[in-house]
Amino acid sequence: MKVFSFRRIISLVAGLATLFLAACASDRVIDTSRTFKKVVIDAGHGGHDSGATSRYGGREKDLALDVALRVRAKLEAAGFDTVMTRRSDVFIELDRRAAISNAQTNSIFVSVHFNATPNASIRGSEVYYKRRCSVRLAENILTQIATIPGFSHRGVRTANFRVLKKNRYPAVLVECGYLTNPSEGRRCRGGGALEALAEAIARGIILQRHGGASMVAAN
Ligand SMILES: [Zn+2]
Repeated sequence: MKVFSFRRIISLVAGLATLFLAACASDRVIDTSRTFKKVVIDAGHGGHDSGATSRYGGREKDLALDVALRVRAKLEAAGFDTVMTRRSDVFIELDRRAAISNAQTNSIFVSVHFNATPNASIRGSEVYYKRRCSVRLAENILTQIATIPGFSHRGVRTANFRVLKKNRYPAVLVECGYLTNPSEGRRCRGGGALEALAEAIARGIILQRHGGASMVAAN
């Protein structure tokens, strides 16, 4: 009888510890930046949320999905598992996007966007991160984008974006370029640039996983 109650106490304590750890885990960041086998690819915006609209042709939500689907194909060809937060023109809440990432194991999160600003002269790609374990991933992706002919970069930057802040895993947000800049806006209209962007993003992710130095200075 004593043994039985001892076991019950142990199992009760173990149950409480599991609950406690699960509660902590939702807030804890897990650094999978060198071990990840899965990539959650997040095409920004969608559905009623078009994101930026380019006067040179195209909407951010469509361009982001185009690039994201290309990244997915390349990563799968390289042996990674992938999860898309959306595969079609649908609206997904930001918290849902983070939750999809947080439900995975041993993964990272890469969000794809295009930028816009009233100042048409501003151009260049940017990669944002929130936590330190994501810096190298951001640098590796931006370094690869900077090698695309005609593309410039504005450095890696920190930001408190919701999809980054709520993520348990290394997470970055890629702003591929400014749709409001005449040259970048026109370039991003073409499939060639979208393919080059996807190739660069995928290469940066693969470099992050398998090693490789980065040359883009953190902002
Ligand atoms: Zn966006």
